[in-house]
Amino acid sequence: MPERIAMGGYTLIEDAPLAARNTLRVTARAALLAEVHDAAALPELFAYPAVRTGDILVLGEGSNVLFTGDYAGTVIAMATRGVEVLDDDGTRALIRVAAGERWDDFVRWSLGRGCAGLENLILIPGTVGAAPLQNIGAYGVEVGEFIDAVEAWDRESQRAVTLDRDACGFTYRDSIFKRAPDRWLITAVVFALPREHALRLDYAGVREELAAMGVTQPAPFHVAEAVLRLRTRKLPDPAVIGNAGSFFKNPVVPLAQTEALKREHPALPIWPGPQGHAKLSAAWLIEACGFKGLREGDAGISNRHALVLVNHGGARGAELWALAQRVQAGVRARFGVELEPEPRIL
Ligand SMILES: Cc1cc2nc3c(=O)[nH]c(=O)nc-3n(C[C@H](O)[C@H](O)[C@H](O)COP(=O)(O)OP(=O)(O)OC[C@H]3O[C@@H](n4cnc5c(N)ncnc54)[C@H](O)[C@@H]3O)c2cc1C
Repeated sequence: MPERIAMGGYTLIEDAPLAARNTLRVTARAALLAEVHDAAALPELFAYPAVRTGDILVLGEGSNVLFTGDYAGTVIAMATRGVEVLDDDGTRALIRVAAGERWDDFVRWSLGRGCAGLENLILIPGTVGAAPLQNIGAYGVEVGEFIDAVEAWDRESQRAVTLDRDACGFTYRDSIFKRAPDRWLITAVVFALPREHALRLDYAGVREELAAMGVTQPAPFHVAEAVLRLRTRKLPDPAVIGNAGSFFKNPVVPLAQTEALKREHPALPIWPGPQGHAKLSAAWLIEACGFKGLREGDAGISNRHALVLVNHGGARGAELWALAQRVQAGVRARFGVELEPEPRIL
């Protein structure tokens, strides 16, 4: 039985199991786990010798990480709770949410309060604290658009800081937090949510789903329901089969390369990207290589969605990573395109 030491605001657990703390359900252990219940305890936690000198990994629900082995340092699990309305003038609400709150709970809470903005981001697993990290996005919306500020503990300056949205450097599945892992422990996020805004319906079947629901004048909660139905049909549920959602990002490539690919593969979906670039469908590339539904032991590629790496039961993290690398190599050889993993590989 791992030893537990309860301190004010956090609990330390030695040799802690991580299988229930990652949605790929990979068996791994952390030399030390610190479960933080009160962000005010962070300075004291960082004064603890093993934490001060060793490696640190901040963990939320583990829905975007792949453990390829045990973690020799300290895993800091943010378990803080709290939702606080800072201001609400009837057109826009400023809401401060603790890092350990579940993202999907907050989305539903915000819609129930009549706030708009997060409807397309319903049912994304994970914590609020992890949401800014990769600027979570789905169905044409990215969370960064609705973030006013991020509160964090900065390990470099050893103090609590507040970064406004511009300072967060949000881009596609990226932010300053992702570029410097574990420098900032996000302790809370302040959202600015409008009462009314232009709904985003032109992405991956949202309009069609609304039509099938018989909705002609959608409100945010209708859009949330449509996205919920689409996601439930398309994505395997981590409660049923271990997975980390999309395992690869859609690759962003120079336009010249896109043109050549389009000539050779007219069916390849291509979307506009940053200047001089376009975004390709990673799922299409993987499926075209014949990897959808592939299984090696208990490691596999979902037969429902080519982007999703799945654990059929007892796959070790290293086996899942080996399969992911096989997919990368296949796509590289066939299309000359590099697939980048979306989860953090540890
Ligand atoms: C079925 C499924 C569907 C998904 N769909 C989507 C989707 O549509 N769009 C999308 O963008 N993502 C999606 N994801 C990925 C994942 O849900 C998000 O990335 C989510 O934000 C991860 O939250 P988490 O709490 O599980 O983070 P973790 O997996 O625990 O951590 C992810 C990263 O964030 C860091 N981190 C976590 N908490 C903090 C904190 N408080 N401070 C600093 N760093 C922190 C970790 O160190 C790690 O680098 C999906 C995952 C699954 C399993």
